[in-house]
Amino acid sequence: MADPKGFLNHDREAARTRPVAERVRDWSEVYVPGSLLPIIGTQASRCMDCGIPFCHSGCPLGNLIPEWNDYAYREDWPAAQERLHATNNFPEFTGRLCPAPCESACVLGINQQPVTIKNVEVSIIDKAWETGDVVPRVPERLSGRTVAVIGSGPAGLAAAQQLTRAGHTVAVYERADRVGGLLRYGIPEFKMEKRHINRRIEQMRAEGTRFRTGVEIGRDLKATDLRRRYDAVVIAAGSTTARDLPVPGRELLGIHQAMEYLPLANKVQEGDYVTSPISAEGKHVVVIGGGDTGADCVGTAHRQGAASVTQLEIMPRPGEERNPASQPWPTFPMLYKVTSAHEEGGERVYAVSTTRFEGDEEGRVQWLHLAEVEFADGGFTPKPGTGRRIPAQLVTLAMGFTGTDRENGLVEQFGLALDERGNIARDADFQTNVPGVFVAGDAGRGQSLIVWAIAEGRSAARGADRFLTGASDLPAPIRPTDRSLAV
Ligand SMILES: Cc1cc2nc3c(=O)[nH]c(=O)nc-3n(C[C@H](O)[C@H](O)[C@H](O)COP(=O)(O)OP(=O)(O)OC[C@H]3O[C@@H](n4cnc5c(N)ncnc54)[C@H](O)[C@@H]3O)c2cc1C
Ligand code: SF4
Repeated sequence: MADPKGFLNHDREAARTRPVAERVRDWSEVYVPGSLLPIIGTQASRCMDCGIPFCHSGCPLGNLIPEWNDYAYREDWPAAQERLHATNNFPEFTGRLCPAPCESACVLGINQQPVTIKNVEVSIIDKAWETGDVVPRVPERLSGRTVAVIGSGPAGLAAAQQLTRAGHTVAVYERADRVGGLLRYGIPEFKMEKRHINRRIEQMRAEGTRFRTGVEIGRDLKATDLRRRYDAVVIAAGSTTARDLPVPGRELLGIHQAMEYLPLANKVQEGDYVTSPISAEGKHVVVIGGGDTGADCVGTAHRQGAASVTQLEIMPRPGEERNPASQPWPTFPMLYKVTSAHEEGGERVYAVSTTRFEGDEEGRVQWLHLAEVEFADGGFTPKPGTGRRIPAQLVTLAMGFTGTDRENGLVEQFGLALDERGNIARDADFQTNVPGVFVAGDAGRGQSLIVWAIAEGRSAARGADRFLTGASDLPAPIRPTDRSLAV
C-alpha cells in the first residue's frame, strides 16, 4: 500500500487544463503539458489498496490498479509500466479517453472523491515512452500461421498486437487511408494527439504486424479470398452505420453526419487540407445528440470559429450527483458531464426533438425547428405549443450508430450470423458462426468504448490463438456477454 494515510491527508487533484481562450485557438490536447507528474505520486498515495479492489471489476480490462498506484507513488516507473501493460496494450489511449468506470467503482468514492486512476495511468505510460521503456516485443519464434485482422481501431490493433506477439504472422486490413479507426478519424486532436497512435503503430510494425491501408474487405478484396489466404480472421470493423434523422428538410445542404464532419477536421491536422471542406467558421452550428460524439463536434466547431454552437438532447438533463436508489455505487452513473468542449462555450438544450429543417432558396439549411418533449408510453411526445426555431447553418447528427457496415458485402460474403441487436454474433471464444472467423469490438458488441474494444481485441486474440494452436497463453479479460457495471 502506497501510504496508509494518503486518502486522509490529500484531496483529489485532477489534471489541469489550459485556459479556454488559449486552447480554442489551437488543436493540441487541452491539458497543461507536464502538470501531472509533480502531483501524481501524492494522488496515487490516496489508493487504499483495498482487500476487494472494486476498481478491478469496474474496468473491463481488469487493470491491476492498486499495484500500479503503489509503483507510481514509489516512482518505480519501469515496474509501474510493466503492470500497466500486463492488462492493456494501449494505456495512452484509455488514459486520455476512457470515461473511467474504474473511478466510479473506486471504494474511496463511497464517501470521498475517488482516486484519479486515469491520470495515474496516463502519467505512467507517458513517462514510459519518454524514458524509452516502451520497446517492441518481438516473438521468440513464429508459428507459421497467418491471421488477417479487418479494421484498425482499438479492437483490431489490440487483437493484432496480441496475435503477433503469440508468433503468428498478422496483417491488418484497413479501408481508410490511415490506421487507427475512430481513434484517428473520430476523436479530435484536442482529445488525443495522433502522435500517440503513430508511435504505437511503429512499435507494432517493429514487432512484425503488417498494415494494408486503403483496402476494404468485401469491396476491394472478397471475404472469401481473404479466408482462403489466411488461417484465421478477426473482424474488428466497428459499428459505423450512423443513425439518421428522417424529418422534413433532411436533404438540405449543410446537414451532415458527425462522422462526415469530424474526419475532415482531423484530416486538416494530418496536413491533407488547409481548411476543412465542412467548416463551422462564422456559422450558427447545431449538434443533434448529447453524447461524446456530439461533444467532439462542439469542440471542433469552437476551434473552427463558429458564430454559435447549440447542442440538442432528447433526454432530460441528468442529475449532477449519483442517485443511490437507481445508480448505486459501484455502478457507472449517468451524470451531467461538463467535458472540455462544454467548458469552451455553447449552449446545451435538453428534452427537445427536431421536427424539421428550413432552408434558403439555394437549398442550404438556415433554421432548425424543435419542440420540447415528454417521455410517455415508451416514447417521446412533443408538448403542444412549445415549437420554435433556432438558427442553424451547419447541423451535425450525432445520434449514435446502428451496427457494422452492411453495404460492402462483408457480412454476406463470410456468411455471418447476426445477433438480435444486428451485431455480428459470436460464441464464448469470440468466434462467429464461421469456424476460424472471430469478431471483436463495436462490430460484435455494438457502439461502445475504447476500453471495451481493447478488452475484446485481447479476448478474440486468445480465441483465435486457441483455434490455430489448440491452446493459448494469451489472457482473455472478458466474455462477449460481459457488461461490467453497466457501462
Ligand atoms: C466521435 C467519436 C468519439 C468517441 N469518443 C470516445 C471516447 O472519448 N472514449 C471512448 O472510450 N470511446 C469513444 N468513442 C467510441 C470508440 O471510439 C469506439 O467504441 C471504438 O473506437 C471501437 O473500436 P473498434 O476497433 O471496434 O472500431 P473502430 O474504431 O470503429 O474501427 C473500425 C475500423 O474498421 C475499418 N473497417 C470497417 N469495415 C472495413 C472493411 N470492410 N475493410 C477494412 N476496414 C474496415 C474502419 O474504417 C475503421 O477504421 C467515440 C466514438 C466516436 C464516433
Ligand atoms: S478501489 Fe480505489 S482505493 Fe481501492 S484499490 Fe482501487 S483505486 Fe485503490
